[in-house]
Amino acid sequence: MKEKIQSEFKNHFGGEGILYASAGRINLIGEHTDYNGGYVFPGAIDKVIMAAIRPNDTEKVRVFSIDINDYAEFGLNEEDAPKQQWARYIFGICRETIKRSGIVKGFDAVFAGNVPLGAGLSSSAALESCFAFALNDLFNGNTIDKFELARIGQSTEHNYCGVNCGIMDQFASVFGKKGNLMRLDCRSMEFEYFPFNPQGYKLVLVDSVVKHELVDSPYNKRRQSCERVAKRLDVETLRDATKEALDAAKSDISAEDYFRAKFVIEEKERVLDVCDALNRGDYETVGRLMYETHQGLSKDYEVSCEELDFLNDIAKECGVTGSRIMGGGFGGCTINLVADDKYDHFIAEAKKRFKEKYGHEPKIYDVVISDGARKVTE
Ligand code: ADP
Ligand code: MG
Repeated sequence: MKEKIQSEFKNHFGGEGILYASAGRINLIGEHTDYNGGYVFPGAIDKVIMAAIRPNDTEKVRVFSIDINDYAEFGLNEEDAPKQQWARYIFGICRETIKRSGIVKGFDAVFAGNVPLGAGLSSSAALESCFAFALNDLFNGNTIDKFELARIGQSTEHNYCGVNCGIMDQFASVFGKKGNLMRLDCRSMEFEYFPFNPQGYKLVLVDSVVKHELVDSPYNKRRQSCERVAKRLDVETLRDATKEALDAAKSDISAEDYFRAKFVIEEKERVLDVCDALNRGDYETVGRLMYETHQGLSKDYEVSCEELDFLNDIAKECGVTGSRIMGGGFGGCTINLVADDKYDHFIAEAKKRFKEKYGHEPKIYDVVISDGARKVTE
């Protein structure tokens, strides 16, 4: 990838750029917890966006996307926004850096990546973090702290790409560390690294490539349920609620709200249990908790769909250690922790049986927990 990027850089601008990269991410466990003040548990992966960048002593940014085979040129003022969506991510990073009193000058860039687009691995966060990190290094002597780099990415999505996302993806992409997952507390924004070196297991995503249209905005309905129960239990968010308090109030909560809240409260505990298991190197327990999360998302939170439940069932039948929906639900991927000797059989079965039933094969992405945003030195 490095050679291809530098060679395109040479074609477009002559000479070489400085190489930067940042990663996509997975979330091992902790789903629908962010807006409830709970924990998420992401890690950066070995799929990245990489860019060669060089200041050009002008006030213009000139950038070529290898994967989209498209070129964009734009100034650094608010009215200079490029038309192309992919370039708006980079423009947004420039603007959000400037808004925070960071320095951004003109530069030339060429970039490419291998984070699958729109598959739930957050290629957009990888792109944002790569450029946010680079601008901090090139123009600001790395004086912008890493959390602010993540916020620059998040604000880019909000203000220039029309996506009202949380902070997890950008956080994971910026802070990712090889062989470590990060437990992020979405209330205090404190985080801690936990070792993730599953010797003898693989982490693999099975992408159903289905996305069910959300007629009724179920995401907002889930949020409202959580807010109602939190209010009834007199806590700010469900982070502070206990199962006992929920059960005590059961008679004046609707059955639906009860099950939504039950999932959120149990999911918070599961994240903590996964952390303990990882500290012991106990990946069998990690896997069991992943299945519990899937069950909760499917039956209590009701954000699964037929295709994802089908993939989860196949995983179980093939003796996969852990499997669950990853992401908001209603389609997308399952994340699977698979013992090496079960891997080939599982992947073959998942492909074959899914295709028989739904007419297309799922896509398979192996991932290894790796470093996040960085300068590429060797
Ligand atoms: P994801 O879930 O992968 O983050 P998004 O829709 O949020 O999906 O972001 C995908 C968008 O990010 C693409 O439409 C494109 O604009 C940009 N992008 C991601 N990867 C690349 C790439 N390799 N080259 C160019 N643009 C990219
Ligand atoms: Mg995205």
